[in-house]
Amino acid sequence: MERVKLLGSCIDLCGFEDAIAFIKGKKGQVVTINPEMIDFAGKHEHFAQIIQEAELVIPDGIGVQLGLWIMGYKTRRIPGIEFARKLVSDLAGLPVAMVGAKQEIVEKAAENLKNEVQGLNLVYVHDGYFEDDSTIIGEIVSENPSLVLVALGSPKQEEFIYKLKKELPEAIMIGVGGSFDVWSGMVERAPVIFQKLWLEWLYRTIKEPKRFKRIFPALPLFVLKVLKEKWS
Ligand code: UDP
Repeated sequence: MERVKLLGSCIDLCGFEDAIAFIKGKKGQVVTINPEMIDFAGKHEHFAQIIQEAELVIPDGIGVQLGLWIMGYKTRRIPGIEFARKLVSDLAGLPVAMVGAKQEIVEKAAENLKNEVQGLNLVYVHDGYFEDDSTIIGEIVSENPSLVLVALGSPKQEEFIYKLKKELPEAIMIGVGGSFDVWSGMVERAPVIFQKLWLEWLYRTIKEPKRFKRIFPALPLFVLKVLKEKWS
């Protein structure tokens, strides 16, 4: 596992299967990093430290893959949603917790996962709209899960996992963004053709125009910044 820096943030270079095997052995926090998170880490020291201390940082999304390619690293992106889904299948039988998204969404996602994954042992399911992290952390810890999926969006989910990790050092914990929305069936993932053409971000933006303001300036600006770093 090679850890490199992209605009100041760490990223681990590895294939999908190697990353799965690595985290199953190592345990701890998985960060699925994207350009917005790298940008945020550049402005917020604590968030940068969370990424630095994460046991595994995988390049999620096309922006980070492009950035890595520009810097000369030939690596492929690892979509966080697929990575988390593989962990769920691989760890079936062990206790799993799900925290995040709206209540009806997380419940539906949990139900769908139970139907798909034989032997899935869901010990804790909670929505992501709570005031006090420590209450939820206490509840999760008392169930002693081996895998914790956290869908609070970034940076909330990474900050939450960072706190949880201190209480649950033997678990794998991953921030999964909008994955519960997709697993619930309420939000569609981009069709494969968009995924193949690296246009998943475009599809999501068309479906959810309010994302445009968030994603559109961020992606080209990110690529420009990487080019600037490369040439300086
Ligand atoms: N969310 C949550 N609590 C919050 C804010 C967001 O549970 O306080 C959930 C939201 O309902 C959604 C997920 O976090 O299910 C984040 O989705 P988004 O699409 O913003 O994440 P991305 O994949 O872009 O990181």
